[in-house]
Amino acid sequence: MNRRDFLQGAVAGAMVSASAAAASPAKTIGIQVGAVSFVDEGVDRVLDIFQEKAAVNTLFVATFTYGRGIAGRQVPGQPLPDHGKQEYDTDTFRGGSYTRVHSQYYKDTVLQQFRAPDFGDYDVLEAVLPAARKRGMKTICWFEDVWSATVPHIEQAQEKHLDDTNANTLCFNNPNYRNWLLGTVEDYARSYEIDGIMWGSERQGALANMLGASHGGAGNPLRVTCFCQFCERKARERGIDPARARAGFQALTAMLQSARQGQRPVDGYYVGVWRLMLRYPELLAWEMLWTGSLRETYSAIYNKVKSIKPSIGVGWHIWHNNSFNPIYRAEQDLSEISKYSDFLKMVMYHNCGGERMAGYIRNVSSTIYGDVPSEELLEFHYRVLGYPHEKGLSEIPKTGLSADYVYREASRARQALNGTKTQLWPGIDIDIPTAATSSKSTPESTRDAVLAAFRAGSDGVILSRKWSEMKTANLAGAGAAMRQLGLA
Ligand SMILES: [Zn+2]
Repeated sequence: MNRRDFLQGAVAGAMVSASAAAASPAKTIGIQVGAVSFVDEGVDRVLDIFQEKAAVNTLFVATFTYGRGIAGRQVPGQPLPDHGKQEYDTDTFRGGSYTRVHSQYYKDTVLQQFRAPDFGDYDVLEAVLPAARKRGMKTICWFEDVWSATVPHIEQAQEKHLDDTNANTLCFNNPNYRNWLLGTVEDYARSYEIDGIMWGSERQGALANMLGASHGGAGNPLRVTCFCQFCERKARERGIDPARARAGFQALTAMLQSARQGQRPVDGYYVGVWRLMLRYPELLAWEMLWTGSLRETYSAIYNKVKSIKPSIGVGWHIWHNNSFNPIYRAEQDLSEISKYSDFLKMVMYHNCGGERMAGYIRNVSSTIYGDVPSEELLEFHYRVLGYPHEKGLSEIPKTGLSADYVYREASRARQALNGTKTQLWPGIDIDIPTAATSSKSTPESTRDAVLAAFRAGSDGVILSRKWSEMKTANLAGAGAAMRQLGLA
C-alpha cells in the first residue's frame, strides 16, 4: 500500500467511525464512587482520573448505605489500591446518608436519624455536582437497601423472620420504610440538580432464601422473611393464607434441618422440595408476594420522581444472583420491570463471578439439589443459564467467569428490553474483592469485559463497585476498551 492509499483508507475509516458515532446516541460510561474518595483525593483530582483513564461521563455517587460494598475505603484485609489514603477506615466508617438530610421529606416515617457521621457536615452532592457539571459529566444518586441496627426506631421498620424475631432488613410493605424511600428520592429530586437516581436491593423472598439459592452465606432457615403484619395483611388481600404459608415454611425448615443432620428425605431432596411446593403452593405465592412488593417499590419510587421532575432518570441495580440462581432470574422479568425503569444496571461482574457461582452451587448442594454431584450441578446451571464456555467448579474461583459470560448476559438483557424505553448499562467488575487465592482483575480482562458488554448492544456500562477499591491500571483497562470503540 502506498502512502496515498493509506491516507485515503485512514480518512474513509475516520469518516465511517465519525458517522457511526453520530448515528448512535451517546453511550453512558459510568463509575461508582463513594464520598470517601472525594474527601481523601479531592473532587477535581478524582474527576480528572475518571476522564483521563476511562472517558467516564456519568458519576454514580453513593449517597446512602450502611454497607462497605459501595462506601468507605477498601474492605479491611484486602490490599489498598494505588491511590487514596493508604490506611483502612475500620475505626471511622459508619455509613448512612452522605448528603444533608432535609427533614421535611421524612415526616411520615420513624426513620429520621440516618446521617452518616463519617465526615461531619460534608454533603457529597454539594461537593461534587458543580465540578461534574462544569465538565459536562452527569451525576446519579446511587443508594441501596442496606441498613444498620443502630438507627433509632429501626425496629418499627424491620422485617419479621418466620420465628417472629426481627430481621436486620427492612420491609417494603411497612409504611415506615416505604415512606422513607419515597422521602429520600423526593429529597434528592428537589434539593439537588441531579441527572438520575439508582437504587438497589440485593435480597430475595423466603423460599429462595430457605433453599440457600444465592452466592452469600447460607443462613438459618428460620431466619427468612417477611412474616410481618403488613405482609400478612397484603397476603390476605390477595387471597393467600398466611397460616398455610407459615405451615409450608415450617415443613420445609424441618426437612432442611434433618438434612443438615445427614437425614436424606426418603424420596430425595429434589422430590422432597417439590412435594412440599405442591402441598403448599403458598411457598411460591409467598416468594412472589415479596418479589411483587419489590416491584411495587420500584414503581412507587419511579412515579414519585417523575411527578417531581420527569427529566431525572430512574433505574435499578439488579443483584448478581441473577447470574447464578434461575429462580431469582425468573423473578427478574424485564418486560415487567422495564415499565418503571429508564435504565437497568444488570450486574455482570465477571471476575468475582467465578467465586460467587461456586458459592451458589455449594449452597444449593445442601438443599434442593442435595443428590446431585456439584460438578454436574454446575453443568446443569451453565445449560439452563446459557453459559456454554465457562470452566469447572475447582477452576472458576481461580479464573473468574469469562468475557463471553458478560456478552451472553448483556445480549440476553438487551434482547429482553428491545422495544422498551429502558437502557441497559451492565455493571462491570473492577477489583471487587475476592479471596487471596482467587482470580483478580487485570487491565486486559477488564477491557475484554467492557468490549463484550458493548458488542452485545449495551447502551453503556457502570464500572463497579467503588473507586476506593479499584486499581488505576484496571480502570485504564476499561479506558482501553473505550478507545478501541471510539468512545474516548
Ligand atoms: Zn413485611
